[in-house]
Amino acid sequence: MALTGIQILKMLPKKNCGECSIPTCLAFAMKVAAGQVEIADCPYATEEAIATIGEASAPPIRTIKVGTGDDTFTAGGETCMYRHDKRFENQTGIAVLVTTEQSDADVEGRIARFNKFEYERVGVIMKADLIAIKDAKNDEASFTALTQKVLDGSARAAIILMSESVANLAAAAKVCGARTPILYGATLDNADEMAKLGEECKTAVGVAGSNLDNCVEVSEKLLAAGLKDLVIDTGARTLRAAFEDNVVARRAAVTAKFKPLGFPTITFPCEISDDPMMEAMVASVLIAKYAGIIVLSDIQGDLIFPLFLERMNIFTDPQRPMVVTEDIYPLTGPDENSPVVITCNFSLTYFIVSGEIEGSKVPTWLLIKDTEGLSVLTAWAAGKFGADLIAQFINKNGILEKVKHRDLIIPGYLASMKGELEEELPDWTIIIGPREAGHLPAFLKEWKPSA
Ligand code: SF4
Repeated sequence: MALTGIQILKMLPKKNCGECSIPTCLAFAMKVAAGQVEIADCPYATEEAIATIGEASAPPIRTIKVGTGDDTFTAGGETCMYRHDKRFENQTGIAVLVTTEQSDADVEGRIARFNKFEYERVGVIMKADLIAIKDAKNDEASFTALTQKVLDGSARAAIILMSESVANLAAAAKVCGARTPILYGATLDNADEMAKLGEECKTAVGVAGSNLDNCVEVSEKLLAAGLKDLVIDTGARTLRAAFEDNVVARRAAVTAKFKPLGFPTITFPCEISDDPMMEAMVASVLIAKYAGIIVLSDIQGDLIFPLFLERMNIFTDPQRPMVVTEDIYPLTGPDENSPVVITCNFSLTYFIVSGEIEGSKVPTWLLIKDTEGLSVLTAWAAGKFGADLIAQFINKNGILEKVKHRDLIIPGYLASMKGELEEELPDWTIIIGPREAGHLPAFLKEWKPSA
């Protein structure tokens, strides 16, 4: 059960020294209770306090990390049922499946597509995270060879090793070295051996349940053997069953604190449908409803892009607006005679405006002013997009050296600011742009420098 700030404070040394970067122990305790900092950030906390508080404040869905360095994959850490309750923490991992039954060309194609399909959106790189390697022939030699091929083919992929044989998993895990994989395939029969292997490799073990009850039994056995990091497959291989199991597992973990299901789930849309479109639809449902990892049969741009977008939208923090960095964005190769357009840094505004400009093919300098993620009118009303701030931005951001003219196109909604801006920027001609981004292309095509 979660501890309150006061309960945590009682276990702290109460030195009020500030070495945790927070001025007082009480403030620190409140932040620990809110899950904003770790108890271990206090250098004077006793081991007993760290263990007690750490356990009590751990998220109901355990955080699992695999891989190494910058490419470490993280799943779980979830604390709520609904995104609007707080936020979802770690986005669903997207994996592509390769097997020892696939031809070399098939495997290489999947690895190449895994590496290739990356997209930038709102300044965020969207890409797949893991490659699942299946020992389909139950053969150690071909399984380890395929594992090596994947490691060589993708330097960043986190690895899921899938086999019915613990010995084969051990051999392939050895090949992975520091890129610790998820070891998938724990059942009631091999749970002891799998627990031992997970302990040796210091990595997460995947429960291969035949149904939800069986999954719980395997999970309990692995926990009793001392394992802490699991991912759980309830064995569901229909959309309805996978959806239901994911919801039941999340609810049991979050609301009833039921530990055997308090782990990220691994789901297999690749085994639910042979139709790529249906597989993507299944994946989209499972991303929305609590899958920790989805394993796809392949990665194709037309199907993976919408999944990336859906995932990004679900896993953004609803309490924090998405922003783009304050900067000058050169769109379609502008030069010293190109128009200069300014708007706010609310990411949706940026993408709509930049999309219209790029569509117009008119080379343009787009100035993005930091408005803390607020849209144009909201930012203006909040005093974050006023004439003085815009003038400061224009004078320091380097646009003066990039263009010969001095025309600044402002959003149509800020027409009332024209006079103020002319006072703040006496060398500039302030031009009121359209209210709607959709009218920008025609506006820019007509624009000519005023002097
Ligand atoms: S470092 Fe520890 S003792 Fe010092 S203020 Fe923070 S919580 Fe209190």
